[in-house]
Amino acid sequence: MLTVPEALEAIRAASPAPRGTLEPLSPDLAGRVLLADVRATVSLPPFATSAMDGFAVRAAELGKAPLPVAFRIAAGDAPRALAPSTAAGIATGAPVPEGADAVVPIEDAREDGGLIAEQPRVGAAIRPAGGDLRAGDVVAARGTVLRPAVLAAIAAAGVPEVEVASRPRIAIVATGSELVRPGRPLAPGQIYESNAIAVAAQAVRAGAEVASTELVEDDAEATRGAFARALAEAEVVVSSGGVSVGPHDYVKPALEQLGVREVFWRVRHKPGKPLWFGAAQDGTLVFGLPGNPVSSVVCFELFVRAALEAMTGAEPAPRPVARLAEPVSRLAERDHAVRCTLERGDEGMSLRPQTAQDSHLIAHAAAADAIALIPAGSGEVAAGEPVEYVAL
Ligand code: AMP
Ligand code: MG
Repeated sequence: MLTVPEALEAIRAASPAPRGTLEPLSPDLAGRVLLADVRATVSLPPFATSAMDGFAVRAAELGKAPLPVAFRIAAGDAPRALAPSTAAGIATGAPVPEGADAVVPIEDAREDGGLIAEQPRVGAAIRPAGGDLRAGDVVAARGTVLRPAVLAAIAAAGVPEVEVASRPRIAIVATGSELVRPGRPLAPGQIYESNAIAVAAQAVRAGAEVASTELVEDDAEATRGAFARALAEAEVVVSSGGVSVGPHDYVKPALEQLGVREVFWRVRHKPGKPLWFGAAQDGTLVFGLPGNPVSSVVCFELFVRAALEAMTGAEPAPRPVARLAEPVSRLAERDHAVRCTLERGDEGMSLRPQTAQDSHLIAHAAAADAIALIPAGSGEVAAGEPVEYVAL
């Protein structure tokens, strides 16, 4: 049985590199990763602009006789040059006219038979051309996450499209003869299916796109058919349930018959020991998540996310750390993901373990903010000890 780091290494090794796609600049690209440097088509600002509403002047001409205000410049104007011994009204963001070397803010000036103000320093309230960035320079480098301000910088630099990592297409297969979609009545023995929606939401949050979702009963042929369709339309297949050692667990044999190579089965981790991971000949990844709803959520966050990060070009962020509010016993053989609520205290954030941790308790788990990662070992991790966690 692999340890968690060994499993993650195997997943990253099998994950295909990000595929690039040219996309028009759009807010929908928020969170995507650039696969190529973006260079500015213009300098920022493209020309010297006024930082204030005020008057464009030659600094040395002030503090003497009032300067006649010859004309006014609005944002968007292309002003004529400033004649000697005159001033021009100017708005924030308007081009500074040739000849002017300072702007006097309205607040510091008076108009009384001409402009009267103290001498400003040369360059005052002028934003020089290229003061932010020069035309041709890199405005956002390969690997940059397109945060809102990055999108703004790219737009300001006049770039209409960017090369980003494409969204991995993911197909979801929820196995179990007991499963019914919400909205239909439950027959005896049935439960409402709940893993698919969590997997889909987690996939979207991790930058993937859901290609299909199928529910399939516990039947060898039906399971094989569902996986065959999923493999045909996705780069990542994520199933839930049917991957243990019960007589109705058809996921492993179905994948084997479809030629999907097993990379590992079972990880030293709770919840989610029966996690299965493999790769098809064409490189499609397959994750067989355990069926218990909490196991499915946790295993996606810890393992499937690692593959999606590799495929979307996202750098795995270092895990945040917080102190435990209560002691937690270590498991001898397995790392343990313990659901917690995050509390703000005098000493920063702390993690309070939920009292009920069974992996079928999805309603309890819905109230958890984080999973604390408790490494395998002996004894307990004491209250106040820092542990890594994953925010939910
Ligand atoms: P399995 O891994 O198939 O043995 O399922 C383990 C437990 O999770 C069983 O109690 C199943 O009923 C439950 N389960 C499996 N799949 C789902 C699902 N998609 N939605 C809700 N519960 C599920
Ligand atoms: Mg099942």
